[in-house]
Amino acid sequence: MPWHPHLWHPTTQVALHPEPLRVSSAKGAVLQRDDGSSLIDAISSWWVTLHGHSEPSIAAAIAKQAQVMEQVIFANFSHSPAEQLATRLAAHSGLERLFFSDNGSTAVEVALKIAWQFWRNQNNERRQLIAFEGAYHGDTFGAMALGDRSIFTEPYDPLLFDVARVPWPHTHWGDDDVETREAEALKALEAALAIPTAAVILEPLIQGASGMRMVRPEFLRGVEALVRAHGALIIADEVMTGFGRTGALFACQRAGIQPDLMALSKGLTGGFLPMGGTLASEALYQGFISEEPLKTFFHGHSFTANPLGCAAALASLALLEQNPKRFEDFEARHTQHLQTLASLPQVKDVRCQGTMAAFELKCGSTSYLNPVGRQLQKLCLQRGVYIRPLGNVVYLLPPLCISDDQLSNCYRAIGDGIPQIA
Ligand SMILES: *Cc1c(COP(=O)(O)O)cnc(C)c1O
Repeated sequence: MPWHPHLWHPTTQVALHPEPLRVSSAKGAVLQRDDGSSLIDAISSWWVTLHGHSEPSIAAAIAKQAQVMEQVIFANFSHSPAEQLATRLAAHSGLERLFFSDNGSTAVEVALKIAWQFWRNQNNERRQLIAFEGAYHGDTFGAMALGDRSIFTEPYDPLLFDVARVPWPHTHWGDDDVETREAEALKALEAALAIPTAAVILEPLIQGASGMRMVRPEFLRGVEALVRAHGALIIADEVMTGFGRTGALFACQRAGIQPDLMALSKGLTGGFLPMGGTLASEALYQGFISEEPLKTFFHGHSFTANPLGCAAALASLALLEQNPKRFEDFEARHTQHLQTLASLPQVKDVRCQGTMAAFELKCGSTSYLNPVGRQLQKLCLQRGVYIRPLGNVVYLLPPLCISDDQLSNCYRAIGDGIPQIA
């Protein structure tokens, strides 16, 4: 199947990559190929498919909503699906206000703009932003600027604003100097906070795109204490970690921290529809209420609070609420397989957090361009398993519905494939 003459695929180099695999349907953890073969989707279709593909209750909720009201402008209007979703998310997150957008990058942009303008509205300008080394917050300009510089941002680097950058003391099983690196990172953060800071943004517990780099809850509590002591805001980018991925509904809960702003997307609608949400504290919201028009948050997207997205999100949340054990107990399912993999001589730095498991292949650099990941991907595809390593970092992030047999198949394909890599 050749490249389509009219499509342009994301983060894909046509001159180097194999042609895309065509799929015709998807059910549960399985993608059905045009040629009749099937694949286990071990990465939840780029981390979005939460319960499983074509989950019936979410599909039904969308169909029902589509026959009642598909979309309405959200500036002069409101509606029940948006109100219900905001109420439920507030109860779960401790953040009272929900601002809608369309994807993870815009959810981050909104958090950034709220944090920045909040201080301005108080006539207390704080002009520094702090982010972590290895951070990824999305592909729009503000989100790129907050993210660490990489091959993804390089062409645009001259256009990106500066942020203070602090080390991220990521860890893995058997890491014995993590406490030293955490102390150094906290020291660097404290030094950076000497400059008046609007906000510190972080991916709670796990940095995704830079290689599934996990930190301990203790570190995040240390970060929170320092940020509070200096009066800055905390933005939690839970675009990947939200909705049970780390074993708690939100990673911040598992870490034991309370952010001021939280960016959500990916799993928000169970992976059915593109929707972003930024949760903000009531105190931030109140900071925009004024007779002065300039204190308004002048930001809005055409599809703000799309009723279909809200209906999907409500149905997805209901599934999580009905069966929290499904995400709370997932980590144990990974652990048993990871222990086997950890004994392979080619494997290092094994780590796991809730539904997300990762390890590194010893060969070569940790660069995104390291080809070993692609080699392993090819071997797994031959076994009916779809993974998408980040350079030499191999990870699994399956939908919650994946069966024990399917999960074993994934690990077996990986374990058999590793010794075959050049
Ligand atoms: C995927 C991701 C984003 C960007 O979300 P998009 O929907 O792809 O724009 C932002 N932050 C994190 C942590 C992500 O994993």
